[in-house]
Amino acid sequence: MDCINDIPSLRAQIARWRAEGERVALVPTMGNLHAGHLRLIGEARHHAQRVVASIFVNPLQFGPGEDFAAYPRTLAEDREQLGAGGCDLLFAPGVETLYPHGQEGHTRVEVPGLSDVLCGASRPGHFVGVATVVCKLLNLVQPDVALFGEKDYQQLLVIRRMVEDLALPVEIVGVPTVRESDGLAMSSRNAYLTPEERAQAPALYRALCAAAQSVREGGEVASVERAACAALAAAGLEPDYVRVCAARTLAAPVPEDRERVILAAARLGRARLIDNLKV
Ligand code: AMP
Repeated sequence: MDCINDIPSLRAQIARWRAEGERVALVPTMGNLHAGHLRLIGEARHHAQRVVASIFVNPLQFGPGEDFAAYPRTLAEDREQLGAGGCDLLFAPGVETLYPHGQEGHTRVEVPGLSDVLCGASRPGHFVGVATVVCKLLNLVQPDVALFGEKDYQQLLVIRRMVEDLALPVEIVGVPTVRESDGLAMSSRNAYLTPEERAQAPALYRALCAAAQSVREGGEVASVERAACAALAAAGLEPDYVRVCAARTLAAPVPEDRERVILAAARLGRARLIDNLKV
């Protein structure tokens, strides 16, 4: 597998594949790869002859005081996993390659509404950073299809909306969350957990499962959310939010909504964990 850091070489490689009539898939990541990322790569193989992964820890999506500096960077191991997992090309640009005029002065992409609730409310500017870098990566690679995990459900909706609003010529595919055997959603940030915290962490998924069951049984949304927050606190997590939402809009659910999703975020030690479950 080739690893490219600069834009001209990336464009040249993509152009060679295009000239052969090959379809191209893109899987954007921040690296420190795990089985969740590799599921995206595996799924990408079903959609295109060529699979490009990107690894870029995007400073624009981290707020002040967040974990940009501490975020685990494991490029050598990631390269090996990607090669073995069927990826054709890794694009791993430096910050100065994507933000040549500095991140402050860079043009931004904002998806209002969807970006302002839930994780967007707790992390102001986060989804502007995500939408901006994903838009840029889509323009650089110009893939036929790009794949994102449902683990980051709000992010997936923000990206779908950006692609629709800006009429970007790419298909967005969502991939189900890959979990550890005890239910914990795989995440690079799980590496921040101490062994004791790691044992507490599956309480997030358990709270979501219990909440989904209550919703199915007709439980009132506000009391389901309160009970889930209480369960998280009892397990030693610090809940940020648990919210039952309409799956397409993240608005408060109304009876006509066919699909609902419960989203949750909680702090545990150094980690901020997020997860969600469709009802
Ligand atoms: P990240 O490197 O955390 O930015 O994630 C890169 C991509 O992998 C995003 O589309 C995530 O939603 C996806 N992803 C991360 N963790 C998982 C998981 N446990 N299962 C499925 N997809 C995931």
